[in-house]
Amino acid sequence: MFDLRSLYQQVIVDHSKAPRHFGVLTPCSHDADGHNPLCGDHLHVYLQVANDGQIVDASFEGEGCAISVASASMMTEAMIGHTVTEFEALFDRFQKMVTSPVDEALDDEAMGKLAVLGGVREFPSRIKCAILCWHTVKSAITAQGGVAHTE
Ligand code: ZN
Repeated sequence: MFDLRSLYQQVIVDHSKAPRHFGVLTPCSHDADGHNPLCGDHLHVYLQVANDGQIVDASFEGEGCAISVASASMMTEAMIGHTVTEFEALFDRFQKMVTSPVDEALDDEAMGKLAVLGGVREFPSRIKCAILCWHTVKSAITAQGGVAHTE
């Protein structure tokens, strides 16, 4: 088990056991497959993006470890209602957070609820689990129908 701080662990367990926005999305304008071979996480993400670039809805399905599912659940919550450009900015902040040095303070204010996933930086093998869904959305946006790999 992971030795994450207990509050963080609670939120992650909650999202992994009862993921939000889980299932196929119809209609959907973008989707992509994501695979993290190191852990065996396999997710598929769906987006409905309006002509003005707003992410109207998002969902995911698939199987993965608690971290990968919780991250996808929290990511969909965070991105719905925002634009693709805002998602890309959030992606950069998220990636920076999970790859930041362990002794650097987490910017809870900038990351909101997603800050709980910052705990994975203490477990390098888990970083790929946390970031899988993010890469998958990026590949859905940039290359329709592409497959995202963490390797
Ligand atoms: Zn995993």
